[in-house]
Amino acid sequence: MNQLSDRLMSLAPSETLAMSQKSNELKAQGVDVINLSVGEPDFNTPDHIKAAAKKAIDDNFSFYSPVPGYLDLRKAICGKLKNENGLDFTPEQIVVSNGAKQAICNAVLCIVNSGDEVIIPAPCWVSYVEMVKLAEGKSVVVPAGIEQDFKITPAQLEAAITPKTKAIILCSPSNPTGSVYSRDELKALADVLAKHPQIIIIADEIYEHINYAGGHQSIAQFENVRDRVAIINGVSKAYAMTGWRIGFIAAPLWLAKACNKLQSQYTSGPSSIAQKASVAAFAGDQSCVEVMRQAFERRRNLVVELARQIPGFKVNVPQGAFYLFPDVSYYYGKKFGDRIISGSADLAMYLLEEGHVATVGGAAFCAPECLRFSYATSDENLVEALRRIKEALAKLQ
Ligand code: PMP
Ligand code: GLU
Repeated sequence: MNQLSDRLMSLAPSETLAMSQKSNELKAQGVDVINLSVGEPDFNTPDHIKAAAKKAIDDNFSFYSPVPGYLDLRKAICGKLKNENGLDFTPEQIVVSNGAKQAICNAVLCIVNSGDEVIIPAPCWVSYVEMVKLAEGKSVVVPAGIEQDFKITPAQLEAAITPKTKAIILCSPSNPTGSVYSRDELKALADVLAKHPQIIIIADEIYEHINYAGGHQSIAQFENVRDRVAIINGVSKAYAMTGWRIGFIAAPLWLAKACNKLQSQYTSGPSSIAQKASVAAFAGDQSCVEVMRQAFERRRNLVVELARQIPGFKVNVPQGAFYLFPDVSYYYGKKFGDRIISGSADLAMYLLEEGHVATVGGAAFCAPECLRFSYATSDENLVEALRRIKEALAKLQ
């Protein structure tokens, strides 16, 4: 008998985490796998942040925190939003969660009713569509291929809007493409959204600091939509803190209050120790962020150069995040012995089994013609991984 809810049965497992787990299992069996699947910085958390966590333990921050997070953390986040983004928020508008992932899911669950439409420009991060499903909403996926640098146009946005549109989830810099919307491109999207006051804009800015385009631009800077933007961000990527699980939403007060209420019933505030570490991240010395950004930019250049040498790959030059998202459809339908490569997940599995490199098929990101590589790993790993991929692909006929 199946005891599981329809809600759970319709949910897809996270493909990024699943590929990473497969790669770890192979590694545990002694196979020398290079893992380019999951997206997380390979750096250690900076020392001053770790010191703040150790101090928090010694200072007995071992009790429940307020549901939306400690006031000093929310003030530090407001300081960050003011200093780095020129945006005014009060601590009441901030809700700190278990990662940006929960912050996005909170927002979706708070605003989406059954049947409401949520516009998701694609390629898109794996979890957006599933979160909308959890809320019983309908994802309206708007595709943008490599020929438009994976960015939607204002006309595409306008065409996707209906009276049922409740929200849009916009991610820049983007996972999985690394594309970054310029100020002008964001303004053009804001001008479309300004005509539709019922639409909430969930702006996922988790890759804010991993930017090679000369500085972050937030859609919240535009006055005509400002009061409907919910900014999502956190410490995972900028401060190499994926395991600490701290993210936040900075939202209109009504939405922040709703996220607070929701969170009060199913997780409470996130880890007290991780919150104190995050105060040091947001309010402390920022030089570590630039050091890591420069390393990612160097690797971006390396990986683009190597990927361009692989026959059949169409490669864009990502302007942010740490992913390369080549169009690899040239290989679909090709064979290795009896094995036919039927699509992106199949190609990712072939590369894992035959080349011992873990990647993620583009279908998980609503772009079945592509494959995602995370280049958040050492130069040696990248050179060797791309060599293996090239070799494995050369065997396909
Ligand atoms: N948004 C995007 C686009 C991401 O890539 C990630 C990384 N998993 C998240 C949100 C969630 O980040 P966090 O680790 O803070 O939950
Ligand atoms: N953002 C990362 C990725 O896309 C983390 C994994 C996840 O949370 O899906 O690989």
